[in-house]
Amino acid sequence: MRIDIITIFPEMIKPMFNESIMKRAVLQNLIEINVIDLRDYSVLKHNKVDDTPYGGGAGMVLQFPPFYLALKNLRNEQTHVMLTSPRGKTFNQQRAIELQQKQHIIILCGHYEGIDERVHDMVDEEVSIGDYVLTGGELAAMVITDALARLQDGVIKKDSYEQDSFHMGLLEHPHYTKPFSYEGKEVPEVLTSGNHKEIDRWRRYQSLKQTFLKRPDLLNGFPLDKEDIKMLEEI
Ligand code: SAM
Repeated sequence: MRIDIITIFPEMIKPMFNESIMKRAVLQNLIEINVIDLRDYSVLKHNKVDDTPYGGGAGMVLQFPPFYLALKNLRNEQTHVMLTSPRGKTFNQQRAIELQQKQHIIILCGHYEGIDERVHDMVDEEVSIGDYVLTGGELAAMVITDALARLQDGVIKKDSYEQDSFHMGLLEHPHYTKPFSYEGKEVPEVLTSGNHKEIDRWRRYQSLKQTFLKRPDLLNGFPLDKEDIKMLEEI
């Protein structure tokens, strides 16, 4: 997968590829990520890309021509263009799984008051990362890129992300590591028993419990089997 992020603040985004899993994913070519400066597509003096809003009002608006030219240059038939916007559909794990199949994604970052409305007509989807307003789309682009990158083959183990919260529809079970006992707090005995059937049962119960207590909405429509229903009755 290749992701192109178009922004007026590339330096905000680049550090995310200098550490940890994202750094390795890029170095090993498991994903290609390009951070593109919108100003490279400016049609005005001094690489200007914003102006005051027609009709008056506070703040600056990012102009249509630089986005038009950037998309004209970067987009091909396979490209999926995403515009970050508080009015977009809220991004979630299900959407990340669907987008995982795309060969090429372009993410557009707004800033200030937003982006000239004519850009909205050129995109495949408007995407929000939650019901709040950020100063710019850079954090949203980073969130989406991170969620997609970890699903690419070889970035993390498939077993690992398939167990993660939301992936199969439930929240994940709790984790523990050494030491076994600290300040009177101990790890559940079952996890050291070596009995994998019992460990799996405990994890399923805990996953259902976390979901029931913290995100009961996720259980609506979730395909519970007989054993799950029995476990839920125990909670
Ligand atoms: N005036 C806009 C409104 O009220 O809908 C808000 C513009 S916001 C200050 C500037 C840019 O930040 C947006 O164009 C978008 O790219 C990004 N942004 C802000 N909140 C976001 C969110 N919740 N999800 C995704 N992008 C967001």
